[in-house]
Amino acid sequence: MPNIRYVSKNLFIEKLSVSNIGKKGGTPLYIYSENQIKENYIKFVNTFKKIKPLVCFAAKSNSNLSILRSLGKLGAGADVVSVGELLKALKAGIKANKIVFSGVGKTEEELKIAINKKILLINCESESEAKIINKIAKKSNKKVSIGFRLNPDIDAKTHKKISTGKANNKFGISIKNFYFFFKEIKKLKNIKLDALSVHIGSQILTDVPYKKVLTVLSKLIKNLDLNLKHIDLGGGFGINYSKKDKPINLKRYSNLVHSFSKKLNCKIIFEPGRSIVGNAGILVSKIQYIKNGANKKFVILDAGMNDFMRPALYDAQHDIIPVIKTTKKIKGIIEFVGPICESTCKFGKYKNYQKISENDFVAIANVGAYGASLSSNYNTRPLIPEILVNKNKFKFIRKKQNLLKLISA
Ligand SMILES: *Cc1c(COP(=O)(O)O)cnc(C)c1O
Repeated sequence: MPNIRYVSKNLFIEKLSVSNIGKKGGTPLYIYSENQIKENYIKFVNTFKKIKPLVCFAAKSNSNLSILRSLGKLGAGADVVSVGELLKALKAGIKANKIVFSGVGKTEEELKIAINKKILLINCESESEAKIINKIAKKSNKKVSIGFRLNPDIDAKTHKKISTGKANNKFGISIKNFYFFFKEIKKLKNIKLDALSVHIGSQILTDVPYKKVLTVLSKLIKNLDLNLKHIDLGGGFGINYSKKDKPINLKRYSNLVHSFSKKLNCKIIFEPGRSIVGNAGILVSKIQYIKNGANKKFVILDAGMNDFMRPALYDAQHDIIPVIKTTKKIKGIIEFVGPICESTCKFGKYKNYQKISENDFVAIANVGAYGASLSSNYNTRPLIPEILVNKNKFKFIRKKQNLLKLISA
């Protein structure tokens, strides 16, 4: 049984009514199903069982401490992209030897901390970064194990704003430059190339680009006769935001990775984010006002683009579902919008939606990934609460941000 579903006319998350949580918690508010997150993680691990990979949850997709802790307990590592995420992962009980650090612009300070904490892998994204790591390591007489992030110039066929593996993207270094730079790396005595990493984008819905990545990697490893401890294949696995989306065939991909890794005898790392938490969260919002426009009705929610940025940032489409269903309809077109003073602060248009009234709750679906973690204080609005549900219990895993603190500067 899905963890977020209707029980007769009422939207439920696990064993609790969303309407009741909304009334108690105050809207807008993020609610997550802890068991959905766990099930997603376990399913992912089982799909790749033969490979026994290290699964490093991409903390930027949802960096709530309680969620990191919950995944950590199941054995997940973390993929972090800042020292803030690194320290959060450690605080959540994830061991340093399960943490990988990605990002094109890591500062010297961040690299120092990562080296001091002895994390598993720093995925280096430029020649200059490798030299800085070497310099830091030399000062403390260490040899630091690094990975190199490659840009394989492969089109992930995803939204252009979330593609990262094409030559015109800033991420990683090109294969050609890697061949050249490989000789230089050998001269840096305080780093050791132990891994290669790739992450070609997000919300990828076919295994075709992943397959191409494996081909590129195999060839490179063979040509340079590399002896690696890890290969980090990144994340990016897409989820079904709408009924039209076909799920990616991870079983088939798993078989490909299995034959790829068998030959190389190294540990595979994955960095899934969205596919672990995406479908486990909803954003509950109250209808503040309904007003007539020239040719549609505006349904003005209390949630804004600062609370949930994906539609404004990536033109992302998220279903907006009623918290209490009715068979009555309203005629014409409605558009759900938020209160922020930006035209892009809108969440979706519908025709013949069910009858809704001011003060009703609606839920924006599939917001567990890149929802709360992407939110901001724009328009001097406090960060909204987050609630975690487990069976018939719920707890605040982030309280609403204090308005007095927010206005202090
Ligand atoms: C964002 C990111 C991920 C996670 O991507 P998802 O699409 O959420 O799975 C993994 N690795 C790196 C390097 C990233 O930047």
